[in-house]
Amino acid sequence: MAVMTSSARPYLNRRLAEFGTTVFAEMSALAASTGAINLGQGFPDTDGPEEVREAAVRALRDGRGNQYPPGPGVPELRAAVSEHQQRFYGLSFDPDTEVLVTAGATEAIAATTLALLEPGDEVVALEPYYDSYAACVAMAGGTRVPVTLRPHEGAFRLDLDELRDAVTDRTRLLLINTPHNPTGTVLTREELTAVAELAVERDLLVVTDEVYEHLVFDGAEHLPLASFPGMRERTVTIGSAGKTLSFTGWKVGWVTAPPALVAAVRSAKQYLTFVASGPFQYAVAVALALPDAYFDGFREDMRARRDLLATGLQEAGFGVYRPAGTYFVTTDIRPLGETDGFAFCRSLPERAGVVAIPNAVFYDDRKAGAPFVRFAFCKRTEVLGEAVRRLTALSAG
Ligand code: PMP
Ligand code: GLN
Repeated sequence: MAVMTSSARPYLNRRLAEFGTTVFAEMSALAASTGAINLGQGFPDTDGPEEVREAAVRALRDGRGNQYPPGPGVPELRAAVSEHQQRFYGLSFDPDTEVLVTAGATEAIAATTLALLEPGDEVVALEPYYDSYAACVAMAGGTRVPVTLRPHEGAFRLDLDELRDAVTDRTRLLLINTPHNPTGTVLTREELTAVAELAVERDLLVVTDEVYEHLVFDGAEHLPLASFPGMRERTVTIGSAGKTLSFTGWKVGWVTAPPALVAAVRSAKQYLTFVASGPFQYAVAVALALPDAYFDGFREDMRARRDLLATGLQEAGFGVYRPAGTYFVTTDIRPLGETDGFAFCRSLPERAGVVAIPNAVFYDDRKAGAPFVRFAFCKRTEVLGEAVRRLTALSAG
């Protein structure tokens, strides 16, 4: 999946042998060493709301969260997550038994897979997959079974027959991600209904990574899988302050699920970080209660950036899949006469002073992902403008 550095190989165990340095670390290091504009790793180049930063400072000064917070998360944040699910989706979760705070969505994914999988269990996941899914399934001794989203009328779409065919008697989990990184696809009501029906029919657990829940554009709607019939009792939903509030370095994430599933995930989580991000948990509790204007403004702002970058990339000659969600745009480099996204991304800093991510790293079937390259648009408009200028010069030259 990822690029192996020479230092890891002699010691890394077999489960992790294919996972060296993550592509995000490699590409951010490349950006730093070349001074290129980093549209690779998905992090905003401006922080979230000032009042939320201030809430973190206050918590730290007031001595809240400077020592180990409670294992499940501070009560204020669990209440805020519960209220958030109610306010946006009408879903009701008991803050004491059905909410768990994690060290980012990353730990939520790790704890969930480690808690729920027996060695040999199969996990059906949408390909291209976010890189930590494959590594976490491997660490848990599971086997990943990809269902590939394929280009269709300008977007990467799920083939429901392929999804059904991927489920076997060994399948334990469906691992869903909507809005989807890296393709920007937002699963529709029809698609999610079919996923839910399949999960119920085959009695599967479902893990749904919804960290981009507030980043949906052009009237697309984010529909939590837990809101579909028969799903609440079998679904672990994952959210993150990194994405929703633009504080990726705080590493505050959360899980909502029925009590027995939360308890299982907590069992694994307590031996990973035990707890994390004490003062930041209080600040995120403040942030989740911000008025709708914050969430609407954030979405609108990102939509404008999406348009700037997507249009710029199109004009620079890339094939562009304009995303319905997330802050990533996937492009096809074949119109530029290129076929290998990896080689393209490795040479792009030198050729154009821009860093991007080769989507191939998110595929088991590297060939299927080879011509696709992901650019992040969660950057200041002047940065995006400059990146577009550089990329236009590349295709002109
Ligand atoms: N899931 C997806 C789909 C992501 O893109 C990311 C990265 N932002 C994560 C999980 C990890 O989130 P966090 O930074 O909260 O650990
Ligand atoms: N989720 C971010 C992305 O897809 C990166 C997070 C990380 O570096 N692990 O770009």
